[in-house]
Formats: sequence, structure tokens, C-alpha cells
Amino acid sequence: AVPLVSAISTAISAKNGLLIRNKSAFESARKIDTVVFDKTGTLTKGEFEVQTLKVTDNSLSNEELLAIAYALEQESEHPIARGIVKEAKKQSVKAVKVTDFSAQKGKGVEARIEGIKHAIVSPGYLKENNIDMPNEATEQKGTIVFVIRENSLLGYVALDDTIREESYQAIEELKSKDIEVLMATGDNENTAKQVAEAIGLDGYHSGVLPHEKSEIIERLQKDGKFVAMTGDGVNDAPALAKANVGIAIGSGTDIAAETADIILTESRPSDVVRLITFGKATYQKMI
Ligand code: ADP
Ligand code: MG
Repeated sequence: AVPLVSAISTAISAKNGLLIRNKSAFESARKIDTVVFDKTGTLTKGEFEVQTLKVTDNSLSNEELLAIAYALEQESEHPIARGIVKEAKKQSVKAVKVTDFSAQKGKGVEARIEGIKHAIVSPGYLKENNIDMPNEATEQKGTIVFVIRENSLLGYVALDDTIREESYQAIEELKSKDIEVLMATGDNENTAKQVAEAIGLDGYHSGVLPHEKSEIIERLQKDGKFVAMTGDGVNDAPALAKANVGIAIGSGTDIAAETADIILTESRPSDVVRLITFGKATYQKMI
């Protein structure tokens, strides 16, 4: 009977937005007592709109700053990059020429412009490199990234993302099943707090690097938790691999999908709830 049950459960799963890559992880989903969500692109849509662009170095105009940001972000597949590229195109800004592009996971991107190192980075990176953040920037709402030339600040860009409609329901249903719901994000404290409060999370970690997301999972496991991680990005891959059940958002990166046990093909965080319910039903049919 097992093959039939498993064929049926595969079909039911597919109908409900679940692609099972690892059957034993799927069968263990009934044991999940903690779910850690990534923020950007997972609980939120990952569709950033530029809200503010501010030059802090008077030798530059707004347009020049945007042209630099555009040039740096062209090669990046990060949602922040897509937001900046979209804004530059909207304003018909021409990108300046860059060489030696590289992405720094969880921190930003860098490249050379006329041989000089430029980068767009997180608040955490500024702090690590002892670059002062302008006061007004600390009061900005949303996600904020800084444009730097060598070690000096040229300006910043503040962007807004939207919470997915399905996130509210997902969190409510998971909590009603006594599952602890947490978030781990590389984004700043202000944005993390705002999202966590809006959707009613049990807790969150902000400003974390990819390996720190994985360490968060590990600590929970050491406390005896059976942990699911849900994420979309390259930065989530180590945590997806570490989790008891790794769940990738369908609209996310290939690396996340390849690392995960389950893919949410419809990109609905609420399908995590179905996964746990079906995992239970399938297990009961099998025994
Ligand atoms: P999340 O956990 O929210 O998905 P990431 O780990 O991908 O976030 O990124 C963490 C932070 O690093 C971002 O909030 C941003 O400050 C910075 N960052 C990452 N990639 C880029 C990029 N391409 N351009 C600008 N900033 C970036
Ligand atoms: Mg993400």
C-alpha cells in the first residue's frame, strides 16, 4: 500500500503548492515545532521600490549617485539590486562602466569604477569598517543601503518592500498549532522589528550573515527543537541545509531550491502549514 499512498500524497502535495524533493524530510514534517523564516523574498515579496536617494558627498549629484548605484547593481540578482536598477531605468539614468564586480553574500556588492573600488553595502558593513552613518539615515524607514567609494560614504538609498498577503495567515495558523515562529534576516533592526510586529512573530534576529542563520538553526536544534527553515536566497542556503526540513520559496534562487527538501511552488508562506498537516496525514496512513 505504501507506493499508492505515496503516489497519492505526491499528487495532493503538487496540487497544494508543494514540490517534495526529499521524501523522508516530508514524512518528518509532522515533527516540526519551530519554523524560521527569512524575511526578504520569503515573508515579503522581495519587490523593492526606491523611496529616498540621498547624496552625502557634495561633489556628486543625485543622478551621479544613482548612476553609480545602477552600475554596481546591474550584475546582482538580489531584490535590492532589482529595485535600484528599476529606479535608474525609470529615471533614464545611464550606468557608468564597472570592472571586477563581486557580490559579498549578506553584505552587498562591489566593483571598480575607473579603477577605484566602489560598493553598495549594509549598515552592518559600515559599522564593521568604521564608516560613520549619517544621523538622518538612522531614522530612515525601510531597508537602507550605502554607496561607498573606498572607505568614504557617497550617499544612501532607502527602499521599501511589501509583506506577502499569505504571511499573516501563515504565522497565525502556525502559532495556533503551538509552533514557534521566528525570523532571521540580514536586513537592519528597524525593518526586521516592523515586519515581526506586523505579522506577529514570536521572535526575530536581524543583521545576520548567511553562516549566522545556520548557527541560529543549530542552536535551536541543540535545545531539542525540530526546525524548519524557509527561505529564497543564496544567503539562506546554509540554513536550509542545516534545518531538519529545508523549505525554499519557488520564486527564489536556484541555489535555495537545490538545497531545500521541499519547494513551495506557489511561493506562499502559508503552504508551510499544509506541509505540516499533510506530513501528519501521510505518516498516519503509512503506519
Ligand atoms: P535577507 O536575509 O533579508 O534576505 P541578505 O542576507 O540577502 O538579506 O542581505 C543582507 C543585507 O546585505 C541587505 O539588507 C543589504 O543591506 C545588503 N545587501 C545584500 N546584497 C545587496 C546588494 N546587491 N545591494 C545592496 N545591498 C545588499
Ligand atoms: Mg531572502
